[in-house]
Amino acid sequence: MDFNDSPAEAEYRAKVRSWLDANAADYREPHEDWDLKTFIAHSKAWQAKKYEAGYTGITWPVPVGGQGLSPMHSIIYSQEEGRFHTPSGLYSIGLGMCIPTVFTHGSPEVTARYVPKALRGEEVWCQLFSEPAAGSDLAGIRTKAVRDGDDWIIDGQKVWTSFAHASDYGIVVTRTDPSVPKHKGLTMFIVDMKAPGMEVRGIKQMSGDSGFNEVFFTGVRVPDAWRLGAVGDGWKVALTTLMHERLAVGGKPRSAPGYEQLMSLARLTEAPNGAPAIEAGDVRQRIAQTYINDQGIKLTQMRALSALSKGQVPGPEQSIAKVVVAKTMQDLASFALDLAGGDGLLAGNDADPELAKLQSSYIGAAGLRIAGGTDEILRNIIAERVLGLPGDLRPDKDKPFNAAA
Ligand SMILES: Cc1cc2nc3c(=O)[nH]c(=O)nc-3n(C[C@H](O)[C@H](O)[C@H](O)COP(=O)(O)OP(=O)(O)OC[C@H]3O[C@@H](n4cnc5c(N)ncnc54)[C@H](O)[C@@H]3O)c2cc1C
Repeated sequence: MDFNDSPAEAEYRAKVRSWLDANAADYREPHEDWDLKTFIAHSKAWQAKKYEAGYTGITWPVPVGGQGLSPMHSIIYSQEEGRFHTPSGLYSIGLGMCIPTVFTHGSPEVTARYVPKALRGEEVWCQLFSEPAAGSDLAGIRTKAVRDGDDWIIDGQKVWTSFAHASDYGIVVTRTDPSVPKHKGLTMFIVDMKAPGMEVRGIKQMSGDSGFNEVFFTGVRVPDAWRLGAVGDGWKVALTTLMHERLAVGGKPRSAPGYEQLMSLARLTEAPNGAPAIEAGDVRQRIAQTYINDQGIKLTQMRALSALSKGQVPGPEQSIAKVVVAKTMQDLASFALDLAGGDGLLAGNDADPELAKLQSSYIGAAGLRIAGGTDEILRNIIAERVLGLPGDLRPDKDKPFNAAA
């Protein structure tokens, strides 16, 4: 494993760094006071700036508007942008997952119409996959699409759709044939989030945010030209999206506190005997454990980088990183809030922004342990595909969807 940049990578890093230093100066500090409107405005302006400078679609093919560079270039760019608090998130699902699915499976006309506007940040996209009765078991979705001339009519409900409230378009997986096994009767479409029959209802989260939504489809018309892939090939198309999702979700969020914050809190906090908490054996052990996990995560990510730099695809062992990141983040924040005593319980602690960060990290980690594959599903993947253990039970796999119990 070689942790150093090659000469060409070092040159690209230097170019990116100097562009960011010149253009991202406004984002050196976090902007926690932004409301949704301000966040969207900043996100759009920043995305347009990146587009003009050639830092969007870094790994995408040149004919669809990408830069045609390697995954290492994309990672170098993300590492460098990660030194700033640029507005991120609004496009992570659209550009990270939806648009690669659109240009891989959509017609040339669809690609030409949607990809450039998405890259410039003019249009925001969301991913309409999960349903009330289908999340981990995505192939169990019930939202149906029925052919009507040159159109399809969609009825059903999606849930947990991040940024649906700010989106112009989405990709939706539907059931077009319930008489065949569940993975075979699915078809994917682009959908206009403002079309008649679409209703987006925000979900209030325990953090106070409303980042995701329920989305209801009542007789929503979609032209057949907006179909992604062949009729009945929706599972294959969805796998393109999910493959990108697994690569996108996995690292520690930029804002999440690490062992350094735990150490400084332990230095400032008194143990019941009046001594600094950092002198207590159990506190020192927790800090050491967090540090060990951090190093393990870094090395697992390095292994993926090393594979990418050799032109290989990282293997299923990448699932390990997400399981450990989310759990470590939750354990660290929980322990730190315990250390802070009563102050750790006060919500939205204005007096202490560091504690507020720990609170939101604690709450956010719960979502991270679910989004993009729950801990249990990732453990199944590790068991089956990394360790070669027997597969999970899938009794309905080959039965017609409408006959499975
Ligand atoms: C922050 C966040 C953002 C999200 N954004 C989106 C989005 O933009 N678009 C979208 O479509 N979805 C989104 N989701 C939904 C997400 O994909 C699902 O929540 C996830 O796939 C789990 O599905 P579920 O919630 O239906 O839980 P379920 O699948 O019902 O799981 C419930 C519990 O059962 C366990 N379980 C299920 N199957 C097995 C098994 N075979 N073996 C062992 N244990 C099992 C799970 O691990 C979990 O603990 C988001 C979720 C979160 C938290």
